[in-house]
Amino acid sequence: MPVARIGFIGLGLMGRPMAKRLLAAGHELRVFNRSKGPVEELARHGAEAAGSPEEAAAKSDYTILMLPDSRDVRQVMLGERGVIHGARPGSIVIDMSTISPAVEREIHEFLKQRGVGYLDAPVTGGTIGAEQGTLAIMVGGDHEIFKKAEPILRVLGQRIVYMGPSGSGQMTKICNQISVALSLLGACEAILLASKAGLDLDKVIEVISSGAGASWQLAHLGPAIVNRDFRPGFKAEHLMKDLRIALEMGQEYNLPLLGTALMHQLFKSLAGKGEGALGTQAVIKVLEDLANHIVSRSSRGAEKS
Ligand code: NAD
Repeated sequence: MPVARIGFIGLGLMGRPMAKRLLAAGHELRVFNRSKGPVEELARHGAEAAGSPEEAAAKSDYTILMLPDSRDVRQVMLGERGVIHGARPGSIVIDMSTISPAVEREIHEFLKQRGVGYLDAPVTGGTIGAEQGTLAIMVGGDHEIFKKAEPILRVLGQRIVYMGPSGSGQMTKICNQISVALSLLGACEAILLASKAGLDLDKVIEVISSGAGASWQLAHLGPAIVNRDFRPGFKAEHLMKDLRIALEMGQEYNLPLLGTALMHQLFKSLAGKGEGALGTQAVIKVLEDLANHIVSRSSRGAEKS
């Protein structure tokens, strides 16, 4: 595809590798982030630094957002020196953060009135997927805008699925997060019991991962749990935010979401310990408190004192 001018806002664990892929594909990037370190890092890779979201959007054909939560996206889009003040008619804004579907629909309407296309295009696949360009991307918005933006999304993801009107991408992502959270709970409880029973944890993960109990969570986060590596690929506070949105959706659709509510509470407990910035696998710590047992390769002796 021809070289595109792209504004990129939000250079965290996901945004940084995604922006680097776009640069490596030959596109011109203007980047903005709340803290300056990541902007300087991207500038070393050839990006131009923007002084505000407005400036990042001003000369861009596409503006991509990768921010934590709904209020961040709302502020960056509609606030003072926000994207809405810079984006040109005919350009396209793509929000790849995971936020509330209702907020996406609201922003979509604002931008439509100004002739700017808007897509909600959240992703799954983790930082590994962001680095390798293998993300799954679920897209909501107007179909003709999706078709125009698809070549850019192809730089970032392998499986790109148009889900329907504005908000549908986020609704799909929230369903994904329910599945993520509950399979993480399954992985944690399996490892906890295996540890207490004195099984070889590496063998447990290996054999379960090749059968009907396999999951991305067990395969990728199981070894981290056993190694007590709680560095974030995906921060616990972000999954807690996603589960909060899921529960709001349950409220809207009058749907009981029992497992989601349970996991939300467990993550609240982790955040209450001041550990919300750890990776999601750190939820094992809350379960260990309840079990009075710490997962350990040398198992039986691991009762908490
Ligand atoms: P992160 O916390 O690592 O990064 C967020 C970045 O946004 C930070 O660099 C922060 O400085 C910046 N930021 C926050 N508010 C800002 C503002 N007002 N203006 C400018 N910059 C601002 O988060 P992340 O892991 O990169 O996740 C980003 C989004 O993607 C979240 O919605 C998350 O739920 C979602 N997501 C994350 C993963 C993952 O594995 N990490 C996977 C899929 C989706």
